[in-house]
Amino acid sequence: PNALVWFRNDLRLADNPALQAALDDGYVPICIYIHAPDEEGGWAPGAASDAWRHRSLAALDADLRQRGSRLRLFFGPTLPTLQTLLMACDAEGVFWNRRYEPAIEKRDTAIKKTLRAQGLRAESFNGSLLFEPWTLQTRERGPYQVFAPFWRAALAAWRPQAVHDAPKRIEETEEGPDGVALDVLKLFPSQRWDENFWRQWSPGEAGAREALEAFVDGALHGYREQRDRPDRIGTSRLSPHLHFGEIAPWRVIAVLEDVRSAGMAADIDTCIRQLGWREFAHHLLHHFPDTVDRNLNPRFDKFDWARRNPRQTEAWRSGATGVPIVDAGMRELWQTGWMHNRARMVVASYLCKHLRQHWLEGARWFWDTLVDADLADNTLGWQWVAGTGADASPYFRVFNPVVQAEKFDPDGAYIAKWVPELAALPVPAKFAPWLHPHLAATYAPHYPSKPIVDLAKGRDAALAAYRALTLRS
Ligand code: FAD
Repeated sequence: PNALVWFRNDLRLADNPALQAALDDGYVPICIYIHAPDEEGGWAPGAASDAWRHRSLAALDADLRQRGSRLRLFFGPTLPTLQTLLMACDAEGVFWNRRYEPAIEKRDTAIKKTLRAQGLRAESFNGSLLFEPWTLQTRERGPYQVFAPFWRAALAAWRPQAVHDAPKRIEETEEGPDGVALDVLKLFPSQRWDENFWRQWSPGEAGAREALEAFVDGALHGYREQRDRPDRIGTSRLSPHLHFGEIAPWRVIAVLEDVRSAGMAADIDTCIRQLGWREFAHHLLHHFPDTVDRNLNPRFDKFDWARRNPRQTEAWRSGATGVPIVDAGMRELWQTGWMHNRARMVVASYLCKHLRQHWLEGARWFWDTLVDADLADNTLGWQWVAGTGADASPYFRVFNPVVQAEKFDPDGAYIAKWVPELAALPVPAKFAPWLHPHLAATYAPHYPSKPIVDLAKGRDAALAAYRALTLRS
């Protein structure tokens, strides 16, 4: 008998519970992908995600073909497409791995109900998380809103999960339609702004494994100390691979545990804890689905954000604020589709506090430009920095971008790499060129001579708005 295996953000063959279950039940899997951006609840994947997905789908198809099968691509709307395919392929059901974005959870629940009511099989699995978002609960049986107790509960409940290699051969049937060619999905950018990305990234399952290997051989050693340094390759850079499900988080843990030694314990534990933030983000998204567009802390609904300021926002987007570490982060993002976590916090704080723009302004830009754009992680990250979310950095904590640069980019190498106009400027001036006007005029004549907003004034205005909110509530 045939069954559809519906690939989504689980673009891999190893450790793929839905594919494995279909095979274990004796089905010939018809592997499909359905393009339906309109069904994403206003968060249709952005341009950088699409560019990645294009390559990842191509890689998955190649991996399937090596094993005797292939990936068939279709357009939504999803439910009628599945129904048509089930008929045309004479398939008994659909197998998929769950996604947790609120609009998708809702859609998939409705799909499952409808198909089952028609007497078909509709089976979903956990393919992307260590814990389903609803499994961990506080003593009061509610959701966690603070990371530390969430993670304590997670560690207590965690049982190592077995890893499964990809099936060696996958049977294929000629039944059913072929679908469309990948190019027809138009995921690939027509203007090639992404060309530089692929020097750094290899989308697909093999690329994910290589990234993990490179991490274990390299940046894992010293991760605890180095992970905050944007000038180093100090982290795994697995985030897009994890987002697209090119590797399972439990495999990442299994590989880390394999190399555990007394000397490595702190680095490995710190890295696993970061995966914990990803779990926490999904836990929050599941329990507080509105937070993709709204403050988790409703007190901030009355916060006096500055009026939208397209000129300032555009300077932020393009890395032309005149604040070197902010510009470096924003240009790294534009040129590679990724930004170091420390830089993400600094640029987000600058937008929400110094420029007092609403966090959604930044979240939307990241959504369009990050190759790892993930609704759970992005929402958590932005609400955390803005001070509006769970376990958030308090609003009155305003990152000083000059101090951040001194501390985390002490040689100015990150700034020099992404803002070459500043490369020749000696180090203390590189962090705040406006404080060294003579040096700046000589060594960095093409960089703005002043930030678009005076840092002290921006900070004071943000704190004043915060005080006003505190008095009101
Ligand atoms: P590593 O340090 O190697 O960590 C390993 C993995 O743990 C990551 O791949 C990621 O899956 C997870 N992880 C690490 N830190 C976090 C975190 N703070 N929150 C959630 N998961 C984490 N991450 C995304 O994957 N997608 C996003 O859209 C996203 N948006 C963000 C927006 C803001 C404003 C901020 C401050 C952070 C955001 N992050 C996001 C989290 C974090 O910056 C990235 O996960 C991290 O930089 C990825 O690099 P890495 O894979 O080398 O991380």
